[in-house]
Amino acid sequence: MASPTDKDLAHKPANFLRGIVERDLEQRTYAQRHWNGAPGDAKFQQQGPADPAKIRTRFPPEPNGYLHVGHAKSICLNFGLARDYGGICHLRFDDTNPEKEEQEYVDSIKDAVQWLGFDWNVGGTSHLYQASDYFDFMYRAAEYLVEAGLAYVDEQTPEEMRVNRGDFGRPGVDSPYRSRSIEENLTRFREMRDGKLADGAAVLRAKIDMASPNINLRDPTLYRIKHAEHHNTGSKWCIYPMYTFAHPIEDALENITHSICTLEFEDQRPFYDWLLDHLAEGGLINKPQPRQYEFGRLNLTYVVTSKRKLKQLVDQKHVSGWDDPRMPTIVGLRRRGYTPESLQLFAERIGVSKDYSWIDYSTLEGALRDDLDPKAARAMAVLDPVKMVITNWDELMGAGHLEPCSAPVHPHDADRGRREFMFGRELWVERSDYEETPPKGFFRLFPGNKVRMKYGYVVECVGASKDASGGVTEIQAKLVPDTKSGTPGADAIKVKGNITWVGVADGVQAEIRLYDRLFTVPQPGTGDKDFLEELNPESLKVVTGVVEPSLGLARPDEKFQFERHGYFVADRKDHRSAGGSPVFNKVTGLKDSWGK
Ligand code: ATP
Ligand code: MG
Repeated sequence: MASPTDKDLAHKPANFLRGIVERDLEQRTYAQRHWNGAPGDAKFQQQGPADPAKIRTRFPPEPNGYLHVGHAKSICLNFGLARDYGGICHLRFDDTNPEKEEQEYVDSIKDAVQWLGFDWNVGGTSHLYQASDYFDFMYRAAEYLVEAGLAYVDEQTPEEMRVNRGDFGRPGVDSPYRSRSIEENLTRFREMRDGKLADGAAVLRAKIDMASPNINLRDPTLYRIKHAEHHNTGSKWCIYPMYTFAHPIEDALENITHSICTLEFEDQRPFYDWLLDHLAEGGLINKPQPRQYEFGRLNLTYVVTSKRKLKQLVDQKHVSGWDDPRMPTIVGLRRRGYTPESLQLFAERIGVSKDYSWIDYSTLEGALRDDLDPKAARAMAVLDPVKMVITNWDELMGAGHLEPCSAPVHPHDADRGRREFMFGRELWVERSDYEETPPKGFFRLFPGNKVRMKYGYVVECVGASKDASGGVTEIQAKLVPDTKSGTPGADAIKVKGNITWVGVADGVQAEIRLYDRLFTVPQPGTGDKDFLEELNPESLKVVTGVVEPSLGLARPDEKFQFERHGYFVADRKDHRSAGGSPVFNKVTGLKDSWGK
């Protein structure tokens, strides 16, 4: 993967996490750690050599949906820090909920991380983990807390527990079960584990402080009863750890140094530290333990970034699937024509901060344009074609003659060669390029005006034929001899209009999908309306256009700049339309149009 250039680095916004990592490296905070080749407890890790990774980060998705652009930010952040500081980033499936895990989601997440340009395989070791593999250790940790007098089995009803937790202005009330003996707690906890209690009959809670101003410290729940099968552990367990208990342990067993999460977890940090401090004290995990750091999650205007809402769009068929090119999912962005480099560039540009802010969609598109401009081959395409006839062609060039023309594949890279196409008596041009009575400043086709057919000849527009309702059905023009682009004297006649076109003889019909913003408002679902009411009914328009002959062979995923129109990509899924034409998705226009 390309690493950032000096120019990129110079423009890198302040990233406080880099500062933290650099400080830890300088102070050698984690230099004494050992790593025994796999996740494990204190004793296991101590048997291994010094940890070769200078830092360890992790990306811990729950496999319950497809990843979106916010996850891309988190992936770039975690894998990017590991890459830049001699570390390793783990991909960890957070599958502690016994809900059905769908292989489809697991596969798509692995695919997304790799496609973005990152790898959990480092030096022959796969750092792909699943949290449910740590259930045995988590149970051991829970028993340790019980034995240390730091956890108890609470048998209040869920409603009593809720009321007794108090709220922001009111301290909580101790549970009557809080003063149980250690022996009684241990027996009861084991009964929970052994399936003697029904779902909801009891929970294991940490014994911290029911009057803490931080509600997360008012004896948080560690384990709950759930008689459910787990995709990995089957029916071995009928109690499952809570996320807040499981996550710090997962980090500790994996030797994570910097556990980066979004701001909603800020109030959980004291418990994260409480738990790991006690487990380290008890010798279950090594010191120094991982630390949690929070950053503001990405919100992008004109889209939604919540798996639940994205799933709703898919399930209710507002879009064609998770990979609909209008979706902010990684598979959707990919199909739309986004490149891994453009998403990395986007992540670099937005940086990380502690703010809860909305990023303008144009920032994402800007990163894509900057990435595609030097890469994408140029091509001519006509999206709303009307035929133009050169009335003096046969007389000047001979009936049926086709004149070969060419243009550079890329204007700034002659090495990429030239594309070839034919000029002839009949050409396709954009309907909007003709105006019978031109408004001021219109330099394109109108009777009496001369224009250059790009990479071809200068022609003089003569007029147009119309149908009964006044719609133009054909434009007529005369060729001006000796004006072929690239031949001596071609510039003798100066014209202001430059028209893109495709030859009728060799143009290829194409299905072109024009995408617009998925929502009509910048922050869907944040006002009084449901987000579904704010969908843009015109977010997809399909047209039949014509493209220059080389595009008939476009490979799936291949990107182009259609001159004057913007960036387009050959669809990776529907490579051919029902009628057999190539299919192109509009990626984005040539300029930012979001501010308007
Ligand atoms: P969602 O709310 O969309 O369901 P999630 O946070 O529940 O997302 P997880 O699978 O738990 O999804 O997330 C995996 C990682 O991605 C977490 O570390 C989380 O912090 C990060 N992440 C999720 N959404 C965003 C976002 N919008 N911006 C930045 N990071 C995100
Ligand atoms: Mg989640």
